Amino acid sequence: MRNYISELRGLVGKDVNIYGWVQNSRVVGSLIFLEIRDVSGITQAVLFKKSNQELFEKLKKLNRESVVRINGKVVESQSKYGIEVQISEVEILNESMAPLPLGIIDPVEADLETRLENRFLDLRKPSKLSIFKIQSTISNSIRNYFIENGFIEIHTPKIVAAATEGGTELFPVQYFERKAFLSQSPQLYKEIMMSAGFDKVFEIAPAFRAEEHNTTRHLNEFTSIDIEVSFHDDEGVMKILEDVIKVSADNVRDKNKKELEILNKEPLNTNYSFKRITYSEYINMARSKGFEIKDGEDLSTPILKGVGADLKEFYFITRWPRDLKPFYVQPYDEKYSRGFDLQYGELEITSGAQRVHNPEVLIENLKKKGLNPESFSFYIKAFQYGMPPHAGWAIGLERLTMVLLDLNNIREATLFPRDRTRLTP
Ligand code: ATP
Repeated sequence: MRNYISELRGLVGKDVNIYGWVQNSRVVGSLIFLEIRDVSGITQAVLFKKSNQELFEKLKKLNRESVVRINGKVVESQSKYGIEVQISEVEILNESMAPLPLGIIDPVEADLETRLENRFLDLRKPSKLSIFKIQSTISNSIRNYFIENGFIEIHTPKIVAAATEGGTELFPVQYFERKAFLSQSPQLYKEIMMSAGFDKVFEIAPAFRAEEHNTTRHLNEFTSIDIEVSFHDDEGVMKILEDVIKVSADNVRDKNKKELEILNKEPLNTNYSFKRITYSEYINMARSKGFEIKDGEDLSTPILKGVGADLKEFYFITRWPRDLKPFYVQPYDEKYSRGFDLQYGELEITSGAQRVHNPEVLIENLKKKGLNPESFSFYIKAFQYGMPPHAGWAIGLERLTMVLLDLNNIREATLFPRDRTRLTP
């Protein structure tokens, strides 16, 4: 029988078996103290030399981060854990090599490169584990929200023939005798599912972007949470997005108290209604802060930083100029579209839109963007035989994790980041 370390407080006086890593050991006179860590927490185990001299000598020589099973009795103690395990037996399940390429309990953290190079060790730190326990809460909260609200989970192909937006940010792959690409977004397929009559769909899956730049908010492979909903407009799916963000933040606050404490983070307050700021209003805000920006120009990073600094909250930027949004975004009028972004401060978390559903408008938009409708024939076909009006969005799971935990680099929210230079581990 296995006991998790987090259960031990309730087992004072009982005999337990804990399994974990020896993160530290300390000899004090005739006592040896081991710090044992498992997925649920850390505790102390202690052995009196006179109770088992041979084991005492063995433990003294045991390398840090070796994996052990410890059998013993839980007793109250003066240690910072309030309890400790009085060792009766130690089974060394696997001894670690020494020295460690990365310290787990060093007070000064190694640089990010070294940490990522030795990610399996880095992730043993309770603070790193906490980020991913919280990320699991976030993705599961979102998944549960969708299931409870009648969405169908879908899985679309990640090897595709054409670019979603005709962009150049694609990784080519050899598909037998043809050239194919890794999917940058499930956009086209999730829209086809509207024509297929699935009504509301979601997908949580990797997206690949061959973006050359190496920033603290871009990865070359990220987890995209996508939805597409029939008979909805931009405002309809913005409402869903607001709910999804609030549900995830509430669940993190309620279910991850311990992890937030380990990370020394306050739960993010989302208890307000997310502002809707039009692109035109946003450029006026930028101008009033001294930025020069022409109507129709994209919002640069300095502008988003400048205006976003006063908006440390979630807000939507709506009614983007048509020229700045992809061909599948529904026009609002001659100049503006029904495309929106969800921002937190300067950071974009989501982009979404009501989509074009009329095939003629779609073909016209493709041509306007300099794309060849022929390459999109499998997609356009779905519009020619009864495509309902629809809308949707995509959130990057890592970016959402960054915001909810106030992390300064997206790599902190990614187990094994893929960036311009990193392909292993
Ligand atoms: P950005 O302008 O920040 O590069 P984008 O406009 O290319 O993002 P979309 O294609 O609209 O982003 O993707 C939707 C969401 O997916 C983004 O809001 C973001 O959360 C996430 N995302 C997009 N590209 C990346 C990336 N390279 N790394 C991590 N997340 C990304």
